[in-house]
Amino acid sequence: MKVLKFGGTSVGSVENLLKVKEIIDSQKDDVVVIVSALGGITDKILTMAKTAATTKTFTETEMMEVTTRHMTTVDMLITESEKEEVKMKLQEKLDELTGLLKGVSLIGELTDKTLDRIGGMGEMLSSTIIAPFLDAKWFNSSELIKTDSNFVKAAVNFDKTNALIRNAFVGFKGVAVAPGFVSSNDKNEPTTLGRGGSDYTAAIYAAALNADALEIWTDVDGFMTADPRVIRKAYTIDYLTYSEAMELSHFGAKVIYPPTILPVFRKKIPVWIKNTTRPQEPGTLIGHEKRNENGRVIQGISSISDISLLTLQGVGMVGVAGISMRLFTCLAKENINVILISQASSENSISVAVPSSVAEKAEKAVNDGFEFEIANGLVNGVKVENELSIVAIVGENMKESAGIAGKLFNIIGKNGVNVRAIAQGASELNISWVVKTSDLRKTLNVVHEGFFLTSYKELNLFLVGIGTVGGNFLQQLKQQQEKLFQQKRLKLKLVGVANSKKMLFERDGIDLENYASLLKNSERVSNQKEFVNTMIEMNMFNTVFVDCTANETLPAFYYQILDSNISIVAANKIAASSAYQNYKLLKDTAVKRGIKFYFETNVGAGLPILSTIKDLTNSGDQILKIQAVLSGTLNYIFNTISKDIPLSKAIAMSKEAGFAEPDPRIDLSGKDVVRKLLILVREAGYEIEEDEVVVEKFISPELFTGSIDQFWNGVKDLDEKFEALRVKMETENKKLRFIATFENGSSNVSLQAVGSDSPFFDLEGSNNIILFTTERYNEYPMQIKGYGAGAGVTAAGVFSDIIRIANI
Ligand code: ADP
Ligand code: ASP
Ligand code: MG
Repeated sequence: MKVLKFGGTSVGSVENLLKVKEIIDSQKDDVVVIVSALGGITDKILTMAKTAATTKTFTETEMMEVTTRHMTTVDMLITESEKEEVKMKLQEKLDELTGLLKGVSLIGELTDKTLDRIGGMGEMLSSTIIAPFLDAKWFNSSELIKTDSNFVKAAVNFDKTNALIRNAFVGFKGVAVAPGFVSSNDKNEPTTLGRGGSDYTAAIYAAALNADALEIWTDVDGFMTADPRVIRKAYTIDYLTYSEAMELSHFGAKVIYPPTILPVFRKKIPVWIKNTTRPQEPGTLIGHEKRNENGRVIQGISSISDISLLTLQGVGMVGVAGISMRLFTCLAKENINVILISQASSENSISVAVPSSVAEKAEKAVNDGFEFEIANGLVNGVKVENELSIVAIVGENMKESAGIAGKLFNIIGKNGVNVRAIAQGASELNISWVVKTSDLRKTLNVVHEGFFLTSYKELNLFLVGIGTVGGNFLQQLKQQQEKLFQQKRLKLKLVGVANSKKMLFERDGIDLENYASLLKNSERVSNQKEFVNTMIEMNMFNTVFVDCTANETLPAFYYQILDSNISIVAANKIAASSAYQNYKLLKDTAVKRGIKFYFETNVGAGLPILSTIKDLTNSGDQILKIQAVLSGTLNYIFNTISKDIPLSKAIAMSKEAGFAEPDPRIDLSGKDVVRKLLILVREAGYEIEEDEVVVEKFISPELFTGSIDQFWNGVKDLDEKFEALRVKMETENKKLRFIATFENGSSNVSLQAVGSDSPFFDLEGSNNIILFTTERYNEYPMQIKGYGAGAGVTAAGVFSDIIRIANI
C-alpha cells in the first residue's frame, strides 16, 4: 500500500488531473490518494467568508464562480453515466456552503469553528469529483481523523484516528480517494489540520496503514535547496533525512507542511516529493539514514517572513534563575508559538521571535508578567521590532564541520546585511538568524551562492556612462555573456544603466541587444543622486557600480556606494586622484566592507599596471622609482607630428581617434598625466597630493584658461615652434616624450627629448610604458608596455576589473 497526495495545482486543472490519472493508473500497489482542494479554492472560499462577515453581504457571483469551476471539471472528466450523480453530490455540498456563507453574512461574525466548516469544503468538493474520475472508493477523512477542538489548527488524536482508519481499510484493495485537510472533533464538528494540511492528512493515513511509501505530488521537481520562487538557481535535493526535511519545512519551506514528517518518521516510511507534470524527474527522497553522497554540509535554506522580535533586557536579569522560564510561561499562557530564541551570553537580554500577527499580544503578556521588575527598573520592558524575517540553513553534516557559522556570517556581513539575532539548535542541525525583511531576498541569494557552489555566480551591474568606453564595454559584455556563463558559471547581469539623459533599471537584467532603445524610451530622467539611491534601495546582492564617465560630480557618491556594500569599478579618474584623504577613505571603506574598489583603467587603459603594483607590494616588494609615459594621447600626438601634420592637426586627429579626454586640454596641460602619476604613487603606498607633483608645461598656461574655441585657435600659433622642435629632434635622432617620474619621494612630469638608448624611444602610436624599479627589480626595472589609450582596451580593462570582483 502506498499513499499519494496531490496538491492544489496538481488537481487544479483538467490537464493536470489527466496527469494524475496516468500516475494512478501506472501504480501496481493498492493506493490511497489524498487530494487538496482545486488550486486556489481554499483561499477563495475563506476570503468569501471573511468578506461576508465584515461587509454583511453574500455575493452570488463569487459563489457562481466556485460552482462553475467544479461543474466544468465534472463535465470534462466524468463519464456521462456518472455525471448526474456526481453533480448532485456536488450541489448538495455547494448548497451547504452557500447556506454557511449566507449565515455568516447575516450575523456578521465568523468564528474559527465556522471558518473550519467553510474552509474544509474545498477538499470535500474536489474529492467528490476525483474519486469517480479515478474509479476509486471515497473515504471521508472528516470522520476518520479525530482531533481536539482547537479550530483552524487542530491537534490529531492518533489513537482514535489510527483505529478508525485501520478499521475503515480492513480488506481494502484498489484505489481509495480521500479529502486532505479535513477532520473533526469528538462532537463530530468539522475541524481542519491547518493551512497546507493535506500533506499531513496523507502522512496520517500512511502511518495508520503502515504504508510502504508516502508520495507528495506537487508543482516542483522535489525539495529544493531554497524556495525556487525567490532563488532561481535553487535546485532539487535528491536525498534528505527526516530531521533535515522537518527543519527546512519548519523554517518556511512550503513544499511540505511541517507536522507531516512526524507520523512517517516514527514508522520509518520513506517519503517522496515528486512533480505531477514531470513524473519522469527523480524527485526527492526523505528517509531515515544519514547519507552524504554529495558531500554537502548544508542541504537547504528556508525562511519565514512577518516575524517580530521581542527583546527583554535589563541588569536585573543577570544571573537570576528562572527568567526565561517565566518569559516562556507568559507566552505559552497566551498560546503564542515562539519560533526562535536567542540569549546574549551576558544574560542581560533574551530575544524571542514570534509571528507578527501575535506580537502585540505577546508584548502585553510579557509586560504584564514582568510588571514588578519593570516598575522597579530591573527590566526595561519589552522592545518589539517588526518587519523581520527568519532565515535558516539546515544540514545534518554541520555537526562535523567547523567554521560554518563563521563563513555564513562573513558572507552575510560582506553584503551589508545586519543580523538582529542568531540561534543554533544544540543538535547543530540548523543555524537560524533574524534579518530585516527588506534584506531577506539578498540574504537568501548570498547564502545560497556561498554554500551551493555547483551553481553559478551572479554579479549585478549598474553602469553610468555609455559613451565610447561604456558603450564598448556593453558591446564586449554582450559578446562574452553567454560564454562566461557556460564556461565560467558567471552570470553578469546589467541591472541599471544611465547616460546623461535617461536612466533605466530592471531587476531581472536589461536586454543588451536593445539597451539603447530601452534607455531612450525610459520614463526616468537621469539624475546621479536618484540613480545611486535606486541602486541602494534595490538592495541586490553582489552589486557592482561601474562608472564609465569622466564626470566630476559622480565620484562624490562613491563613499555612500561603498558604504552600502556595493563594489565600484571606475574608469573615471576623479576619485582616485582627488584629495589623498578622500582616496584613503574610499579604499579603507572598501576594505572595511569586504568589497572592492577597482580603477585599473585609470592608468594605462587596459594594461595591468595597478594590479601589478598590488601583486608586488602584497608580496613584500617595495617600489622605489617609477618612470613612465602615461599619456596615450600625448604620445600619439608626438608620434604623429610630421612635416605634413602640424601640432594642431595632430591634436585634432587624436581626438578623432578616440584617445584624447573629452576635453583635450586635460591631456595637453599635463593634468591627465599628473592624475595618473598620483594614482600610481598612491597605489605604491605613498601619501601624495596633486600640488606636490611638479609640472613643466610645454604649452603656455594662458591657452588653458579661455574657452575651448580660443584654445583651438591659439594652438595653431604653436605649430611653427613644434615643427622647429621636430626638425631638431630628427637631426639629433631624438624623440619627444612626456615623462612622469617618481623617485626619492618627489614626483614630476615634463617633456623630454630622449635618445635611442632610452626605453622610451621606441614607443609607437598611443602606447604607454611604465618602468618600476623595486627592491627586487633593481638593476633591470620591470617594464609594462602596450596600448595606453582607446575605448576598446579601456572597456576591456573595466571588464577585467569586474571579472576580478567575481573572483573566478
Ligand atoms: P501543493 O499545492 O502541491 O501542496 P505548495 O504550494 O503547498 O504545493 O508547495 C509547493 C511550493 O512550495 C512550490 O511551488 C514552491 O514555490 C514552494 N517552496 C518553498 N520552498 C521550497 C523548497 N525548498 N523546495 C521546493 N519548493 C519550495
Ligand atoms: N487546501 C488547503 C490549503 O490550501 C490544504 C492543502 O491544500 O494542503 O491550505
Ligand atoms: Mg502544500
